[in-house]
Amino acid sequence: MRASRSHIANALTIDVEDYFQVSALSPHIARSEWERMPCRVERNIDTVLALLAEAGSKATFFTLGWIAERYPHLVRNIVAEGHELASHGYHHRRITDQKHAEFSEDIRTAKALLEDVAGIEVKGYRAPSFSVSKANPWAFDCIAAAGYRYSSSVYPIRHDHYGMPDAPRFPHQSRDGLLEIPVTTARFLRTNFPAGGGGYFRLMPYALSRSLIRRVNRIDGRSAVFYFHPWELDPGQPRVAGTSLKTRFRHYLNLHRTEPRLRSLLRDFAWHRIDQIFLDGRDAAPTRAS
Ligand SMILES: [Zn+2]
Repeated sequence: MRASRSHIANALTIDVEDYFQVSALSPHIARSEWERMPCRVERNIDTVLALLAEAGSKATFFTLGWIAERYPHLVRNIVAEGHELASHGYHHRRITDQKHAEFSEDIRTAKALLEDVAGIEVKGYRAPSFSVSKANPWAFDCIAAAGYRYSSSVYPIRHDHYGMPDAPRFPHQSRDGLLEIPVTTARFLRTNFPAGGGGYFRLMPYALSRSLIRRVNRIDGRSAVFYFHPWELDPGQPRVAGTSLKTRFRHYLNLHRTEPRLRSLLRDFAWHRIDQIFLDGRDAAPTRAS
């Protein structure tokens, strides 16, 4: 018999970018080639919207400015379905590869563009590849100064490409007026384990992903923040040549399992938009220390 669905509201988030814009593939696909790549994001977002509609769930879509400019109807569909539109920057460049002024320009351009296309305020920002780090503390100042009200740019785990394992695990004010809402980790053995999606969701058996999120809901008493990409539901995407074994493993592993696993995730937990949970006061336990 299935365990009952948790009543804690969790935040479901989608990073809206195409398969050729992923940071790990950037050494193999120049930005100038993006225009010529076969686009998959439109059909993949349609699949995601259909899954969410079927489950009656809402989510937050961190969308690239580059995508919004080319596929404005995709952005409008997201908003028309009652989901939150948020920003993933314009160019999908890691903050670690940018100077202060370039980063500032990128996130301001993306916010203005998304707001123009959708006709609503864009409150949230997520850094490409969770690239906020101790090396660029000015990034949070830029995000606040650009007018964002929250950021979801930290995954407090150890990983070779991203992560701040010592960062707080739960939402906190990172700057005046800017809430940082980290992707969820489960903590035991004095270590943070990834419980908020990404490649780990494709790697781990679904039952383990489910038990980690349940642990956060029940033991920490907190809302989880989970993320995935539209290309992770697309086993038919073109293969990018010349990549390393590690990159191929990470990018292509279990793509055919994502959709059935997402269906289970939507069935087993209650999912909402980030702004409704954390800005509108529906967080499971907003007053507890992290
Ligand atoms: Zn991204």
